Parts: sequence; structure tokens; C-alpha cells
Amino acid sequence: MNIVLFGPPGAGKGTQAEIICGRLNIPSISTGAVLREAIKNSTPTGLLAKGYMDKGDLVPDSVVTAIIKERLTKPDCAGGYILDGFPRTLPQAKYLEEMGITIDVVLSLEVSDEEIIERLSQRRLCEDCGAPYSLKYGPPKDTSRCDKCGGRLVARQDDMPEVVASRLKTYHSQTEVLIDYYREIGILKTIKGQKEIKDTTSLVFKALGIT
Ligand code: AMP
Repeated sequence: MNIVLFGPPGAGKGTQAEIICGRLNIPSISTGAVLREAIKNSTPTGLLAKGYMDKGDLVPDSVVTAIIKERLTKPDCAGGYILDGFPRTLPQAKYLEEMGITIDVVLSLEVSDEEIIERLSQRRLCEDCGAPYSLKYGPPKDTSRCDKCGGRLVARQDDMPEVVASRLKTYHSQTEVLIDYYREIGILKTIKGQKEIKDTTSLVFKALGIT
């Protein structure tokens, strides 16, 4: 099954992707995570992407489509995958079609802007393995260390309030249009993001027809 996890920044796409991928045993592909890794390693892609990401803008379609193209040809994608944060523009959605890729379901996580701003101020990420945490919902045992690998927990550069405002603006102006696009195709399922991670997961599993 090929799944797209859709929603504004901080809606819980990464968290739910990780849970679904453990349940269905398929990889989760996050263009944001690939870009953050590229920045960490100072690759040409990372150096290019950083300027956009720091401002809360989208990285050019040509860059992210190249990442997706390379990643989806890997053998572990043969049995399906979860796309977390891709597509984010209409041309990106069309690119998947041009590649001959069929998306089975688009799960749209709905969370209000006010809630997003609150959530992102509480979000921390493991510097080493990238695992996401919320200091409010689902906090780690030690607020400065990752439960899984012991790595240092940090706030994302683009979770700073002024960047969050810009990311939300970008979401509403460039990404949200995909909701109608996928609704018309008939593969959109809308999920109201819940306060508790496990409650959102129950709705996600129900939408996917799994228990
Ligand atoms: P995320 O981790 O999904 O919140 O993505 C972090 C940032 O990476 C976004 O704010 C964008 O700057 C960039 N990014 C991630 N995925 C895409 C995409 N599909 N298209 C353009 N930019 C992206």
C-alpha cells in the first residue's frame, strides 16, 4: 500500500508515519528528514535547501522530486511506503503520476493553526536518529535525551515562532490545494488530529482498515 501522510507542519505526520511503518512493515520516507540529513552533511543539496528551510519556504520542486525519485527505486519500497511531507505542491503530485506511481490513500491530518503553534513550541527531535518528541504530549523519560538511542534532543531551527508562521502561510498558500486535488481523485481520508498520539493513531488505523 502506498500512503501519503498529509497535513500542516506539526500535525503529527512524522509520528504517525513511524507508527504505521512499524505496523505495516513498510518504509516511511520524509523529504524533510532527507533534507535535514543533507544539511548536516553539508552536501550541495543541503547547502541549497538550508536557505529555503530556514525561512520556512518550500525547497524547489526539482530538488525534492530528485530525492523522491532516487528513494522510491530502492528495493525496500517494492512492497509499499509512506510518504511523509511529499507531495507539497501540485507539480509534485503530478510528478508522482508521471512516474507511474499509484497512491492508494492520502491521510490528511487536520489541526488548527493555534494548536500547531503550541505543538511546535514543544517539539524536540533527536539529533542522532531523528525521533520526534513532544514535551507536552508523549514526552521522553529525560527531556534532554532520546528514549531510543540516547542522542541529544534539540528544537528544530524551523520550529522558531517566526519560521512557524511562515511555514503555516506556505502550507495554506501552496500545499492545502492538494486536499481538493486528492478529494476529487477519491483517495482522500480526513483525520482530526487528537491531543493524545494514540487516539490519532486509532483513527489512522481505522482509515487504513487495520487494527
Ligand atoms: P518537514 O520535516 O516535512 O516539516 O519539512 C521541513 C522543511 O523541508 C519544509 O518546511 C520545507 O522547507 C522542506 N521540505 C520538506 N518536504 C518538502 C517538499 N515536499 N517540497 C518542498 N519542500 C519540502
